[in-house]
Amino acid sequence: MQGEHCLFVVSGPSGAGKDTVVACLRAAHPEVQRTVSATTRAMRAGDADGVSYHFLSVDDFERRLAQNELVEHTSYCGNYYGTLRSEIEPRMAAGIPVILVIEVEGAANIKRLYPGATTVFVLPPSLEELERRLRGRGTESEEKVQSRLRRAEEEMALAAAYDEHIVNDTPQTCAAALYAIIQNRMNGQ
Ligand code: 5GP
Repeated sequence: MQGEHCLFVVSGPSGAGKDTVVACLRAAHPEVQRTVSATTRAMRAGDADGVSYHFLSVDDFERRLAQNELVEHTSYCGNYYGTLRSEIEPRMAAGIPVILVIEVEGAANIKRLYPGATTVFVLPPSLEELERRLRGRGTESEEKVQSRLRRAEEEMALAAAYDEHIVNDTPQTCAAALYAIIQNRMNGQ
């Protein structure tokens, strides 16, 4: 499909700092956009509806699924997450680079649907640092932290399938590495 080169899929374990890296990149380069996913998870402190996610009820999510409004979706730690078609197709048509911050299953589905998309895996400096960051967030129960850590180990095992890999030592250097990947692809390299 036209405009597949505009799609940049960013994954990495929960706590790797993907959102901070993407926010850092967008602060410097606002022409790079990011999709707002749909989810059924509860809002966390700092979340705003329509900004961090479109927060939907399970019924609403399932209705949109049935109406083919989502290009991919998954169930992650007990909640639905998915990418709305309306978040990517207009940008692809207009040639605007857009970042999707999604987990590994969704990334594989996007790559299958749009083979010209670029997949980028954000690695934490180490698993110990990842655990420290997850606990430091202080927003999740111990059970949820454990669930996210187990899922992180599974996700890291799938990193090899990604087109590009960047280590989040600091959000600034990682954002610069991500921007270089975007520029190269948008310039046809
Ligand atoms: P969180 O609850 O921490 O915001 O997100 C949990 C996981 O869901 C993260 O790995 C995040 O990247 C992923 N995620 C967010 N939106 C989507 C989406 O639209 N599709 C898929 N497949 N995963 C998503």
